[in-house]
Amino acid sequence: MFVSDNLNVNDNGNLTIGGVDTTVLAEQYGTPLYVFDENKIRESCRRFKESMDRCYGGNGIVCYASKAFSCMEMCRVIKDEGLGLDVVSGGELYTALKAGFDPAKIGFHGNNKTDEELKYAVSSDIGHIIVDNISELARLEKIAGEFGKKPHIMFRIKPGIDAHTHDFVKTGQIDSKFGFALETGEAFEAVKEALSCENLDFMGVHCHIGSQIFDIAPFEEAARVMVEFIAKIKNELNHEVRELNLGGGFGIKYLNEHDPAPYETYMERISKVVRSACEELSVNQPAILIEPGRSIAAPAGITLYTVGARKEIPGIRTYVSVDGGMCDNPRYILYQSEYEAVVANKASQERDENVTIAGKCCESGDLIGENMPLQHAESGDIIAVLATGAYNYSMSSNYNRIPKPAVVFVKDGESRIVVKRETFEDIIRNDV
Ligand SMILES: *Cc1c(COP(=O)(O)O)cnc(C)c1O
Repeated sequence: MFVSDNLNVNDNGNLTIGGVDTTVLAEQYGTPLYVFDENKIRESCRRFKESMDRCYGGNGIVCYASKAFSCMEMCRVIKDEGLGLDVVSGGELYTALKAGFDPAKIGFHGNNKTDEELKYAVSSDIGHIIVDNISELARLEKIAGEFGKKPHIMFRIKPGIDAHTHDFVKTGQIDSKFGFALETGEAFEAVKEALSCENLDFMGVHCHIGSQIFDIAPFEEAARVMVEFIAKIKNELNHEVRELNLGGGFGIKYLNEHDPAPYETYMERISKVVRSACEELSVNQPAILIEPGRSIAAPAGITLYTVGARKEIPGIRTYVSVDGGMCDNPRYILYQSEYEAVVANKASQERDENVTIAGKCCESGDLIGENMPLQHAESGDIIAVLATGAYNYSMSSNYNRIPKPAVVFVKDGESRIVVKRETFEDIIRNDV
């Protein structure tokens, strides 16, 4: 009925998440409120992990891309499920380490890591640093030497996948700020350089071709290109690459018409490509790393708002304004992203209106969405926006000095705060 199967309607006609009445959550914790179904997070982790075990003999690791949604409790859940973790900044690394995450299972990404971040990563003995460019390689070699360490590194590669036929947020093409290009020979020269670095242990290659990708074919194409590169490294540099990181980017269902392939299908097809390409090109099968972010966080989360003003502009449109907006969900203003919404206290009624849900920030583009089918929404109603678990809280801001909402986890009928709501005092905390 809804985009996520953990959402339902109870006998009172209210929307539930993980069996908990969302209107009760709104009453108890206030709005706007991010709510996550912990069991849904865990279920996605297990599906990725089990498919890795079944399809690739467990020779690999699933690393949650924490930029999708990070807080200490999220790191604890991911740790408890036995996954690894990706970070892209000192702040994300700090959060993971403070949550007790095993540094050996953390990978550090980013196209412009600072020296401070590299020192923090090296001194924390994290599992992988994914090197993006040649200047980073030189800085890291020096820093590792200073600390007397030999960190494991991987290289971010732009596999040059022809994304023209695929309509997605792409990062694998040559004109991207991320990584080393394959077709110009830049990546190969960098590997040569890395193999001569005394203080770095070159483990393998990484690619991440984009996000919210529904089709498995570009992932297969990327995997094939990466194994070919591994073969070139073996043949020309006599070095056997041990690890292949295929990134994240698996699409999720934001709207009912979206039809992402099941994670299991992805793992089956990728494993097949990697195995057969390795056999054909006579290279050892590398361990595989994958980095799902959105697909673990998004379907588990919703946002609850309270409706304030309703503005009907005859012949134009109806605005339904809520007590949040681009400050807690900037994805519409960034990408014109689309969401499903429900009036949580009228969830059993038909969605017989099409409205624009507007935020409360001082930007005309501050919308949650346009032309959204919705039950008749009036002041005081609770609106739930679905599948907001990824890139909402993590991209939130204090624009207009609006305090960030609280984050609540529900599990087995119980709810608990995992991130407190900010107060006005928090807003001025660093002001002098
Ligand atoms: C963003 C990112 C991911 C996660 O992407 P999703 O689309 O959220 O799955 C994984 N790896 C890298 C390197 C990324 O930058």
